[in-house]
Amino acid sequence: MIKEQIEKFFNIRGENVIRLKEWKEQGGKVVGYYCTYFPQELVIAAGAVPVCLCGTREEPISAAEEVLPRNLCPLIKSSYGFAVTDKCPFFNFSDLIVGETTCDGKKKMFEYMSELKPVHVMQLPHMKESESSFELWVQEMRRLQARLEKELGGEILEEELWRAIDLVNRETAAAKGVCDLNQQEPPSLSGLDLLTVNWSRGFNNNKEETIRMLDELREALVGGGSVAAGKPRVLITGCPIGLGSEKVVTLVEEAGGTVVAFENCTGYKTLPLMTDTSYDDPIVALAHKYLQIPCSCMSPNEGRMKLLQAMVSDFNADAVIDLTWQACHTYNIESRAVAKMLKEAGVPFLHLESDYSTSDLAGLGVRIQALLEMVEK
Ligand code: SF4
Ligand code: SF4
Repeated sequence: MIKEQIEKFFNIRGENVIRLKEWKEQGGKVVGYYCTYFPQELVIAAGAVPVCLCGTREEPISAAEEVLPRNLCPLIKSSYGFAVTDKCPFFNFSDLIVGETTCDGKKKMFEYMSELKPVHVMQLPHMKESESSFELWVQEMRRLQARLEKELGGEILEEELWRAIDLVNRETAAAKGVCDLNQQEPPSLSGLDLLTVNWSRGFNNNKEETIRMLDELREALVGGGSVAAGKPRVLITGCPIGLGSEKVVTLVEEAGGTVVAFENCTGYKTLPLMTDTSYDDPIVALAHKYLQIPCSCMSPNEGRMKLLQAMVSDFNADAVIDLTWQACHTYNIESRAVAKMLKEAGVPFLHLESDYSTSDLAGLGVRIQALLEMVEK
């Protein structure tokens, strides 16, 4: 039963290619995005479909390297590669691409991507505590609203925006409900199943259906999942991971451990963040929520340390792996602070730097095995 439910999540991506094709044929609009800072509520309120385009596979990277430097994070190269080779149906369906000035590689890549599709880049402030940062982010939200209204045709009504906020809040709560079940021992879901659920849900154009699927999965898991008790419990933090770039998760689970949680953007990073509906202005409410995302492009980024500390405790993690994609400077540099914090807390820690290829599997496997031996029960 649980296996079938996970399979349903796995199939979302393929099924939504067909659904979005029909949606486009009926004149529907699609907006592609690459980052969790993207306020998808605005697109939903405009009656269009937001779709995540983050590249998580190696195949198109060689094509991207004809334009972009090789020494760039694989996520950026894969995302651009899918676009330039026209191999991603979701990119193809997109009427507009929205990016943000998160890291340098991504923001410069968007300049080239704009040769392929209309691209709107939001100027993301990198210091979230200051008043001027907040004002800039509010303005950027309003600038995006105006661009969406122009590209998609029609005004985004305030009441529609509040409705979209409620929908995304409910989806976030439903996803958190599933992830939180892994706090128990044994955890409810393996790391690979957890990743399948969280990554796949970003492709569903029907959020009410996603919420139903998440709630049904949570109910089915309450009586216990399929993971054996007593395995070393590993928490993964760092750069986003998707299906196609899950090699570290696979290695942990093949070596006898279990990944109980992901702190990264394809995991828990945004799940504790709800849009506060007590504000008068929905744009202000959204700006408050999105600016709290603890990404390493923020400086300082204390929110990530607080979230990690809480997650290590809540998910009873025996060890933490920080996965940095090659040439991701912000996560790579921040790893030292993560290591220091975990050392003080007495939690075994491993920093891995890798890309989407399989060339380093053996070396990664040895290091993961050594970590698990330290914490074996
Ligand atoms: S890690 Fe940062 S830049 Fe990457 S998707 Fe998450 S919020 Fe965006
Ligand atoms: S993984 Fe790092 S370098 Fe790559 S897009 Fe995200 S923040 Fe940028």
